[in-house]
Amino acid sequence: MTRVLVTGATGFIASHTILALIDKGYRVRGTARSPEKADKLTAVLSTYAGKPVDIELVAADLTSDDGWAEAMDGVTYLQHLASPIPNELPKDADELIVPARDGALRALKAAKAAGVKRAVMTSSFAAIGYGWGDSRPAVLNETHWSNPDNIKDNTAYTRSKAIAEKAAWDYVTGEGAGLELTTINPVAVLGPAMSADVSASLELVQQPMQGKLPAYPKLTFGIVDVRDVARAHVQAMEVPEAAGERFILGEKVLSYAQIGDILREAYPDRKLPKGQLPSWFVRLLSNIQPVLKQILPELDRKRAYDNSKSRTVLGIDYIPAKEAILASTESLIELGEL
Ligand code: NAP
Repeated sequence: MTRVLVTGATGFIASHTILALIDKGYRVRGTARSPEKADKLTAVLSTYAGKPVDIELVAADLTSDDGWAEAMDGVTYLQHLASPIPNELPKDADELIVPARDGALRALKAAKAAGVKRAVMTSSFAAIGYGWGDSRPAVLNETHWSNPDNIKDNTAYTRSKAIAEKAAWDYVTGEGAGLELTTINPVAVLGPAMSADVSASLELVQQPMQGKLPAYPKLTFGIVDVRDVARAHVQAMEVPEAAGERFILGEKVLSYAQIGDILREAYPDRKLPKGQLPSWFVRLLSNIQPVLKQILPELDRKRAYDNSKSRTVLGIDYIPAKEAILASTESLIELGEL
C-alpha cells in the first residue's frame, strides 16, 4: 500500500482528507503535536466513517526539527495541512508566520530527503486575494499573489499563509528541485465537523447561531465544503497535470447577511441576528470581541474568484455553499456545540 503522510492530522480539513485517502486505498500516517491524541482521533474518524479506521500518529511540531525525518520514512506522498489558524490573532504576527513558513520548509525538506514524489500543501485564498489595497483584480485566479507586506490589508494569519506558500515554491524551484509541489488555496471552509475541537472557520456559523452578533458585518465570504477540499487534496496528489500548480477552491461567494438568511430559514426557532452592521461599529466592536479583528481588512470589500482550474484539472464538482453551511451547523448541533 502506498503511504501518505498527513501533517496536522487532528485538524478539520485533515480529518476529512485522511478519510478520503483511506477510501482510495492509501495507508495514512499522521503527524500531531501530541501523538497521545491517536486513540481519540481514531475514534472520531471511525464514528464519522461508520467503520473502523486505522491510522498511525507520530509526533512532529512545526517549530522543531524533531521527528520529521522519522515521520517521512517510507512515505510516497506528503499532504501538508498543519499551520496555525487561531480564533484570535496574536499581538506578534511572527507567532503565526514563523511556524507556518518554517514548518512548511521542515516538512518539505524532510520529504525531499526521503524521496517523496509529491507534496500537496494547504495554502489558502489568503495567499491570493489580500494585500492588494484598492488594486485588487475584479476576479482573482491562481496567477495572483497576495502582498503580505501591505499590513493594512492583511491579518497575521493571511500574511502567514502567503509567506509560507511563497517559501514553499521558492524551495521546490531551488534547493528542493525534484520534489513536486501542488498547493490548494481554499476560501472559507465549512461542512461537517467531526469533533467539537473545530477549526476557526466554523466561527462563521457559530457566531450568529450563538447570538454573538447583533447583526451581520458587511462582509462577503467565498465558501467551500470540506468534503470538496478533501477530494481536491487527493486529486492534487494523483493527477499528473496538478504538479507545479496552485488551485483556488471555492464555490459561491455569499454575504454574511445571506449566510444568516440561510440559517434563519433552516432554524426558524433560533434567535438569529438580522440586518447589517455599519462597518465603523464592527471596528469598534473588535476591541471587545477580538475574534472580529480577523475580518477587519475585508469589511465592505467584494471578492470574486475563478474556480475553473479546480473543476477542469481536479474534476471538482462543487457541493453548494448552502449545503456546506447547513452541514456545519447540523454537525455542531449534533456535537452539542450549538
Ligand atoms: P484546524 O482544524 O485548526 O487544523 C490546523 C492543524 O494545524 C491542527 O491539526 C493543528 O494541530 C496544526 N498545527 C497548528 N500549529 C501547529 C504546530 N506548531 N505544529 C504542528 N501542528 C500545528 O484548521 P483547518 O481549517 O483544518 O486548517 C488546515 C489547513 O487549512 C491550515 O493550513 C489552514 O491554514 C488551511 N486553510 C483553512 C481554511 C479554513 O477555512 N478552515 C481555509 C483555507 C486554508 P493541533 O491540533 O496540535 O493544534
